[in-house]
Amino acid sequence: MQFQKTIEKSVSYEGISLHLGEKVKVTLEPAPPDQGIVFVREDLPGSPSIKARASNVVENHRGTTIGEKEVKIITVEHILAALCGMEIDNITIRMNGQEFPAGDGSALCWVELINSAGILSQDKPKKFFEVKEPLWMEENGRQLVVLPSDEFKITYVVDFPSSPLKSQFAEFVINRDTFIREIAPSRTFGFMREVEDLKKRGLIQGGSLENAVVIDERGVVNREGLRFPNEPVRHKILDLIGDLYLVGRPLKAHVIAVKAGHLFNVKLAKKLEKIMDEKKEKKRQSENLPLFTTKEIEKILPHRYPFLLVDKILSMGEREIVGIKNFTINEPFFSGHFPGHPVVPAALIVEAMAQVAGVYLLNKSENQGKLAYFAGIDKARFRRPVFPGDTLLTKVKILTLKKTFGKVEAESFVGEEKVAEALFIFSLVER
Ligand code: ZN
Repeated sequence: MQFQKTIEKSVSYEGISLHLGEKVKVTLEPAPPDQGIVFVREDLPGSPSIKARASNVVENHRGTTIGEKEVKIITVEHILAALCGMEIDNITIRMNGQEFPAGDGSALCWVELINSAGILSQDKPKKFFEVKEPLWMEENGRQLVVLPSDEFKITYVVDFPSSPLKSQFAEFVINRDTFIREIAPSRTFGFMREVEDLKKRGLIQGGSLENAVVIDERGVVNREGLRFPNEPVRHKILDLIGDLYLVGRPLKAHVIAVKAGHLFNVKLAKKLEKIMDEKKEKKRQSENLPLFTTKEIEKILPHRYPFLLVDKILSMGEREIVGIKNFTINEPFFSGHFPGHPVVPAALIVEAMAQVAGVYLLNKSENQGKLAYFAGIDKARFRRPVFPGDTLLTKVKILTLKKTFGKVEAESFVGEEKVAEALFIFSLVER
């Protein structure tokens, strides 16, 4: 069995970014199993973080950009390719600017950085996304075809009829060895005729022959020439690996690409991500697994034992959430409430209902890190006592959700029987 991997220790790299020409420092940090890849913008107030997922891609004309509101992370594809190629599943990437340094235009600087940190095997099995059915996309002569396969394989064809590159073909099974040797060293390339135009548009401000291969009508301009005769198509494979890692898991699939690019790659990544998420959701429902376990709830709510009064979230929809709390006889309050006749204090049922609502409110990305305080409770009714051994199931409907407050309606059940209901108003405040 293969296990998830992170890095052994934190390491940093500083360099100039390709498009904005900014000097940016990047620090890679070990991360726990199942975290995935998370970017943190250290230079912004509150150090906002954002996951490397296709659903977070905002624009991608000359490189792939992840974003949410004012938080942007530009040109993520080379570092993502390196993480995929080096088989890293979990990592936190802190940066003090908005675009990744370009290095020499290839993924070598990231391979070396990851190697210098060391790779650490974790105690959870590695999760792949195994493509079970063929999938294809075609648009203006661009094609992407995904076939089921036991390994991650890429076949790529590019065609630049009006340049000396003409047609190029490459095919690789992607693993750590082939990535480091055959793919990582291949550099970004561009055509001389495009350079002026891109510069005018504010792009490639940090571009030079040090971090890109430039091609004019006679051939390669760089004095050192190419690293492989088909270096450009290999770089296209590198970009595709990085863009597809945005699916959230490494693929087991054979991807065939004809003249694809970031825009098209990300379309495919979004499609695959959606299929994967739907499959995960189906599996969870069929196995009756919770949406959030206690451990995950603790990442959202600040409450802890003995005052964490929601054990599991069973489901969460557009404006609703369902959670449960098991009241075992070991709850500390039973000994005093009441001696010889233990019942759950009604105030704690109110608290349990509010905490389920709190998971919904605080799980929203715009509310992360905030606290939810009671601003009002209306129409609270308690229909029967809750005893040790009862499982309290709370259904919450979100009535209003604004930036600084939320209004919800909650009902709690034991079995089929409704035991309590109430309306809550919360104010949402920064910690
Ligand atoms: Zn690239």
